Amino acid sequence: MNANFAGDLEAVFAANRNHPCFRLADGGVWTFGDLLDAVSRLAGVLAGHGVGRGDRVLAQVDKTPEAVALYIATLKVGGVYVPLNTAYTPPEVEYFIADAEPRLFVRTSSATDSSAAPANSAMLTLSTEGDSLKEAMAAAAPFDAVVARQADDLAALVYTSGTTGRSKGAMLTHGNIRSNAHALRRCWGWRDDDVLLHALPLFHVHGLFIALHCALLGGTPTVFLPRFDAGEVLRWLPRSTVMMGVPTFYSRLLNQPQLNRERCAGVRLFISGSAPLTEATFHAWEARTGHRILERYGMSETIINTSNPLDGERLAGTVGLPLPGVEVRVAGEDGASLPPGEVGMVEVCGENVFKGYWRKPAKTAEEFREDGFFITGDLGVMDGAGRLSIVGRSKDLIITGGYNVYPKEVEVLIDAMDEVAESAVIGVPHPDFGEGVVAVVVASGGAAVSLERMSAHLHERLARFKQPKLVVQVPSLPRNSMGKVQKNRLRAQFANLFA
Ligand code: AMP
Repeated sequence: MNANFAGDLEAVFAANRNHPCFRLADGGVWTFGDLLDAVSRLAGVLAGHGVGRGDRVLAQVDKTPEAVALYIATLKVGGVYVPLNTAYTPPEVEYFIADAEPRLFVRTSSATDSSAAPANSAMLTLSTEGDSLKEAMAAAAPFDAVVARQADDLAALVYTSGTTGRSKGAMLTHGNIRSNAHALRRCWGWRDDDVLLHALPLFHVHGLFIALHCALLGGTPTVFLPRFDAGEVLRWLPRSTVMMGVPTFYSRLLNQPQLNRERCAGVRLFISGSAPLTEATFHAWEARTGHRILERYGMSETIINTSNPLDGERLAGTVGLPLPGVEVRVAGEDGASLPPGEVGMVEVCGENVFKGYWRKPAKTAEEFREDGFFITGDLGVMDGAGRLSIVGRSKDLIITGGYNVYPKEVEVLIDAMDEVAESAVIGVPHPDFGEGVVAVVVASGGAAVSLERMSAHLHERLARFKQPKLVVQVPSLPRNSMGKVQKNRLRAQFANLFA
């Protein structure tokens, strides 16, 4: 059997040729037939550039239907798709070119003016004007075959955000992508009348795989917005049934007075992931719209691991149960499962788990247990019913005076203070304690957030050693494009607070 995932997608496209696939912000529509044709032509272009089995196609492209076609065409010719954040600068792009050694580099000409063409390979630009890729598409002979691939063959290299050291390429196979896509469709009960509201970027697994595959495999339309814009999202919500977003989408929408029950009446499911959804946002969303956001947990290396239930209770602060076919355990340092209620390393095994880091066998070996479980780097705790809660990244764990402090436990309590809009708790070098706990806060109003008030608030709720020794107020927390707070930047900025 040909395990090339492009074959699964093309079968759906062919069966839904005349149905809308992408609804664009400017009113334009692409049908599934349009997408199928674009994929064949782009596959012709790729084949013309010699892209075949195992060859990497590096793509630093804006979010357009052609970008989706480029991804699928790469798989179709047997290649490996390597999406890059459009915000990367030329020196960063050079690193990815050197590491991935692509056969072809496709970039949007409006993106960073990277002149770094890969050695021994070609470069094409994709944009609205002077567009060499679209010209090549018009001239190319369609490529109709789907090149044979095994489930274990690479489909994509997804570079991790790389907050420590340089970014690593997570090798995802056709089997990883297919199994997860089908599991999600079942888990979230994808329906024939669903309309997906898509405002996520396409260079990350959330937008490219998790959201898009549900809609593409379902043969259902996607409202395809170039980026998140609260006004645009509100405009399209009444014509959508499912929205997938990062937590910042939800908190920004809550700032819009027009967000109300009526606007969300046709939506059946709001899904959040890629970063922790605060309990405050979960409850505020429910109060305003009547919907309980379904939170799920995943990562570049494993796509999705766990999800709150479609039917059944969605609990704030938890990321739910393992997906069918995925095993999740919370383990101690030796890899043995810990009892419910104890914090440990989240480890995952299943068809969704990647093949390893590109050309980094030693790093790969370090992050897998002998029994095949991947050590995610997240710390979590399981309840008696098998629901997982994430308490933070292991590298964000604070060790102060020999005691462990899990930042989330402190952040949840600080966020409950009236004068605090949000917080990030970090550990920075301390001459006496090794690390000292610091609360970095954004105030909700004009008033300053004092250490005295915070200590009084935490006094009866939290052991003394977990309480912040200092409070720093900032106008906003640094976040990456997926809404994750960049604690490494905060640690660097405040490294000398106790010096
Ligand atoms: P990435 O590879 O960029 O998708 O980042 C994956 C990381 O995001 C995970 O290892 C978690 O630390 C974090 N993450 C994703 N989803 C959630 C969630 N629902 N709650 C808390 N953290 C999350």
